[in-house]
Amino acid sequence: MSDPRIIAITNQKGGVGKTTTAINLAAAVAELGFKVLVVDIDPQGNASTGLGVELGDRRFTSYDLLLQETKVAEVVVPTAFEGIFLCPATADLASADIDLGGTDRRSFLLHSALRQTDLAEMGFDYIFIDCPPSLSLLTVNAMVAAQSVLVPLQAEFFALEGLSQLLLSVRQVRESANPDLRIEGVVMTMSDRRNNLSQQVERDARDHLGELVFATVIPRNVRVSEAPSHAMPVLAYDSASRGSAAYRALAREMLVGHGAKIQQLEGQI
Ligand code: ADP
Ligand code: MG
Repeated sequence: MSDPRIIAITNQKGGVGKTTTAINLAAAVAELGFKVLVVDIDPQGNASTGLGVELGDRRFTSYDLLLQETKVAEVVVPTAFEGIFLCPATADLASADIDLGGTDRRSFLLHSALRQTDLAEMGFDYIFIDCPPSLSLLTVNAMVAAQSVLVPLQAEFFALEGLSQLLLSVRQVRESANPDLRIEGVVMTMSDRRNNLSQQVERDARDHLGELVFATVIPRNVRVSEAPSHAMPVLAYDSASRGSAAYRALAREMLVGHGAKIQQLEGQI
């Protein structure tokens, strides 16, 4: 059994589409037959809510995983969606930065947790970590645990602002803890191609970042924004929506980059 590929979904800005991308990329990858774990490390717990795991069902959370050394198999819960599992989050994670402060190897807690043998036995193909909107110790834990960082960029003014700081954090983590950390890619989210500004931001991103930017662009789509209030990925809420199509395309683009055979993927779609 091969190790799961661990991808941290990060951007220190809030509201850029991290959680939406974590949930829907997970759903699109799971739809292709892969077994996927979403690790919610945002105290807001939006990925947990968006995947239909209510507060009352979050007995153990990522906090326990990080601080209490709870077995990962006890923290992971199934979701209502085939192939998608969750390490939920609750507001207790808000104090994690302080609580982690005193421990040794405090940047490596998630790394260790995700390499427990009982997790390996669960046979996940992909693990997506939904990060909080900061470059806090929680996000650093995600970058140390991950093989790559996927950055959602909202197609609006100031999108690129803050990106150099994010890339600096990636470089620091590479130098200090995780030399193999890669940039999975930057994905433009909430794009409106009829809007000149949205187009300009996308052009700027491609000029600055070149091939790091995924060809797939996620459009602004009302079905995507409605889905979380129904506690579903948009792929389950409205499978035929433009948002669902975009996340399927993003999944394919990413998987092809990982060496999955395109014919194999086409056979499954
Ligand atoms: P983050 O996790 O980075 O804070 P979210 O994924 O929660 O961002 O997205 C912020 C808001 O934008 C949410 O209300 C979400 O439903 C909405 N949203 C995200 N992506 C889209 C999209 N492609 N189309 C429409 N609304 C979107
Ligand atoms: Mg979020």
